[in-house]
Amino acid sequence: MEKDVFCKIVDGEIPCYKLYEDNDVLAFLDISQVSKGHTLVISKKHYDNFLSISQEEMHKVMDVAQRIGQVSVKYLGAKGVNILTNCYEAAGQTVMHFHVHVIPRYDGNEGFILEMKNNADGLNLPSIAKQIQQELK
Ligand code: AMP
Repeated sequence: MEKDVFCKIVDGEIPCYKLYEDNDVLAFLDISQVSKGHTLVISKKHYDNFLSISQEEMHKVMDVAQRIGQVSVKYLGAKGVNILTNCYEAAGQTVMHFHVHVIPRYDGNEGFILEMKNNADGLNLPSIAKQIQQELK
């Protein structure tokens, strides 16, 4: 199977603007920079996405994402940060290798728009809640 682009970055076959690295985690600037400091934090080991990574490795990635978010606010002047991870194409995932976006927010003019519209009309919330609760037991 052909390596994905992030496996190639981990293996040093493609360059990146590296911010942080340890045995399990790599963080580098997203090539698209929807805002200044837009970062990707990835697991070095290949997992398709957040839904399939081991809990232990996911926690390590999230620890680094948190630190980069803190640095963005403290030193880059961000007024806020979005932490985002897309799972599968239907949710906008284009690179099938687990990654977390750290997106610093400044003045609302970033190349990133997040809009959540109320879409609850006609949905049976008690039934949906019950279904999910049962699966979590
Ligand atoms: P997603 O849509 O969540 O899968 O995001 C994939 C991200 O990877 C996009 O924001 C791309 O800009 C970014 N990306 C793709 N190739 C590279 C690369 N070689 N170096 C850095 N970022 C990349």
